[in-house]
Amino acid sequence: MITIRPVGAGGCTEAPVLRERGQREVFCGLTGIVWLHRKIQDAFFLVVGSRTCAHLVQSAAGVMIFAEPRFATAIIDERDLAGLADANAELDRVVARLLERRPEIRLLFLVGSCPSEVIKLDLGRAAQRLSQQHAPEVRVLSYSGSGIETTFTQGEDACLAALVPGLAADDRPGLLVVGALADIVEDQFRRLFDALGVGPVRFLPGRRATAMPGVGRGTRYLLAQPFLADTARALEERGAQRLPAPFPLGVEGTTAWLQAAAAACGVPRAHVDAVLEAPSRRARDALAAHRSHLAGRRVFFFPDSQLEVPIARFLARELGMSLIEVATPYLHRSHLAEELAWLPEGTRLAEGQDLERQLERCRSESPDLVVCGLGLANPLEAEGMTTKWSIELVFTPIQGYEQAADLAALFTRPILRRHALAEH
Ligand code: SF4
Repeated sequence: MITIRPVGAGGCTEAPVLRERGQREVFCGLTGIVWLHRKIQDAFFLVVGSRTCAHLVQSAAGVMIFAEPRFATAIIDERDLAGLADANAELDRVVARLLERRPEIRLLFLVGSCPSEVIKLDLGRAAQRLSQQHAPEVRVLSYSGSGIETTFTQGEDACLAALVPGLAADDRPGLLVVGALADIVEDQFRRLFDALGVGPVRFLPGRRATAMPGVGRGTRYLLAQPFLADTARALEERGAQRLPAPFPLGVEGTTAWLQAAAAACGVPRAHVDAVLEAPSRRARDALAAHRSHLAGRRVFFFPDSQLEVPIARFLARELGMSLIEVATPYLHRSHLAEELAWLPEGTRLAEGQDLERQLERCRSESPDLVVCGLGLANPLEAEGMTTKWSIELVFTPIQGYEQAADLAALFTRPILRRHALAEH
């Protein structure tokens, strides 16, 4: 029988949260394009932004591009900013040229940025106009990835929320897994759902614009990512119901997530346990080596990816790490309820950021490991701290049993590297 400590009141369910609203050091939502453009294979992301935006997306994605990329930036220049050019007319021209050159595109996202907001370019209306012009071959949607409105994982939330109104109406019972997962992880989950007898199961986003799932009153959905508040709201407006569960990170999270799906579909518990026993045992065995390196070490989270709470829960419960502070850009209490109940009592929780104050707290605690954004990692390393870039948590497949040890390895590696350096 697969047993995990129960989810319920306790842990950090009622814990006070330190709310900070100061300067923050986080990438903007354009970053999501890096993983979304690989996921939806016939989509294209056109950032309407500045050269800075183009550099950000290009340098974040640059190392991973091996074919013609499915993103680009329509540069807003000084004439646009000064209101001298008709930005809409220019945008229409850029889109027409792009679609002529890339006839395989079926779904085009216009992605807003700080500059497009500054000149108040209405990308929602532009998307409607362009959709009419290029229908039925191409659908055009818009969302904002601007640094004024979004932190880096919120770009995915905004993108998926933009997809929801266009999903076909389907009131038949079914399970929807929501959140971009690497294809390999999606395939593993599909096999597990099949073995459990859970179905039909669809994924949002689909791998192609023409293969997006339907949604309606019979849809029960499981979040695969903790940063999808707007998408969840949009799905619920279409009649879908969320299945409360922890996130599929680590052995416990994966087991409870799959159990929630199975319970909602009426699968007998004995069958669920029989199916999950072998993969969960293998994953637990694979974690043992990492536990020996990480147990007892103290970790401090700066707010960045919104994955902080589930990752902290995994590090504490399955690897024996001790949590000093777990800070996250936004703490969605209901989506994180099961995760908060699993956090060790007394964990310091923070929402938002006041960078200087948080740096002070971090320095005074001298943690063994700091999980933070790229901008903070180098200065903290220079001060002698060991860091882990949180952006790797979204670029690396980490969900599910077969990735549990890979997830642990992301934290073991910097600790071992620091040791190796200290010995020389
Ligand atoms: Fe910078 Fe804003 Fe462009 Fe993001 S959207 S790269 S924060 S200018």
